[in-house]
Amino acid sequence: MRETGIVIVGGGFGGLAAAKALDRAGVPYLLVDARNHHLFQPLLYQVATGYLEAPAIAHPLRPLLGRGRFLLARVEGVDLKGRRLLLEGGEALPYTHLILATGSRPHDLGVPGVGRHAFFLKGLEDAQRIRQRLLLALEGAARGERPLRLLVVGGGPTGVELAGALAEFLRYALRRDFPEVGGAEVLLLEAGERLLPSFRPALSAYAKRALEGMGVRVVLGAQVVGVEEGGARLREGAFLPADLVLWAVGVRGNPLPGLPTDPRGRVPTDPFLRLPGHPEVYAVGDVNGLGLPGLAPVALQQGRLAAENLLRALRGQEPIPFRYRDRGQLAVIGRNKAVAEIGGLAFTGFPAWALWAFVHIRELIGFRNRLLVLLNWGYTYLFREPGVRVLLGEGLPRPGLS
Ligand SMILES: Cc1cc2nc3c(=O)[nH]c(=O)nc-3n(C[C@H](O)[C@H](O)[C@H](O)COP(=O)(O)OP(=O)(O)OC[C@H]3O[C@@H](n4cnc5c(N)ncnc54)[C@H](O)[C@@H]3O)c2cc1C
Repeated sequence: MRETGIVIVGGGFGGLAAAKALDRAGVPYLLVDARNHHLFQPLLYQVATGYLEAPAIAHPLRPLLGRGRFLLARVEGVDLKGRRLLLEGGEALPYTHLILATGSRPHDLGVPGVGRHAFFLKGLEDAQRIRQRLLLALEGAARGERPLRLLVVGGGPTGVELAGALAEFLRYALRRDFPEVGGAEVLLLEAGERLLPSFRPALSAYAKRALEGMGVRVVLGAQVVGVEEGGARLREGAFLPADLVLWAVGVRGNPLPGLPTDPRGRVPTDPFLRLPGHPEVYAVGDVNGLGLPGLAPVALQQGRLAAENLLRALRGQEPIPFRYRDRGQLAVIGRNKAVAEIGGLAFTGFPAWALWAFVHIRELIGFRNRLLVLLNWGYTYLFREPGVRVLLGEGLPRPGLS
């Protein structure tokens, strides 16, 4: 058995923020992740639509750790009593303190057929699968000289961003590379009364107008009750045929077996981010059950505080309760089109888009990644076409949950 002390599971926003705080304090730790890189999920949709290449939004974890060590392993469970993690392959990893930052995973919300026939956007593999399927669908439509139809389910930020990027990509692709395709339609289906429900209604209305201006058909009050081969079924019984169904609703926590969870798969904690009855275990980010939205700033702030509370516990000091500092929200729709709510102010159009671009470049990890993204965006902005040339291999990527 390995000798370990502080273990962080997950090198996403929350886990990495905790690791950096421990580095600053000069305290050693072990970071365990099932993949060897940190992934900047907010720009995944740009990989799915060919605006960015995968390495631009991923950064290897090892060089990011100062005093910490890294272990590439999938954790399959926690033995709370024995204070050890159970790794894939049967190995046990003891800990004195645990920071759990395993994020969330897509959820089908119990809708039949979603796991089998729809595409999700969570990891790099998902983004690359969507991109390949999109190109194959275009090739199929070109061969049959027929129109193409894509369904995006869910009018939250991810659905809006995906629908906008798909519309921009298709406008370019049909004009340049696929003149035989008899048109393309992107449908954005939202079960509620407006898009971007977490934003103020005026910004939801702007997003709808902007998307419609880009050719996206926005259907509100459209509840998908089933996804089948070749399309989705609505509650009223209508079947919407589609070449691709993208599922942008519903995530649930991604806890480790052996931990208590709420109905949304999140780990309940006290305000100090500790598991009740187990003050040596902290849960942060999307997997934390305090009821905050699944956003990168929440994970970053919780990761930092969990590390600080852990250090305070080692020094015999009282922990600090978590208070979310909400700095606002942003969602991009397309070129020069975005919505922003910052400090009680609302912006749309170019100012919101420029702010969105600035914040994303600033938050990306690594100078090389920032440069790659800037170059690609500059190219796309100047030449009005995706900066990435996409090559298709043989074989058909499968939909579903990875
Ligand atoms: C498509 C998309 C777009 C988004 N856009 C935005 C946005 O615009 N703004 C925003 O604020 N937020 C956005 N988010 C949400 C944001 O990315 C999450 O809130 C944030 O990543 C949560 O951080 P985390 O540390 O909790 O989890 P994650 O960043 O998901 O990290 C979890 C880590 O745990 C690892 N892991 C999981 N299970 C195991 C295991 N069993 N063993 C070992 N390792 C494991 C994973 O490999 C991963 O590295 C978006 C999310 C998605 C999917």
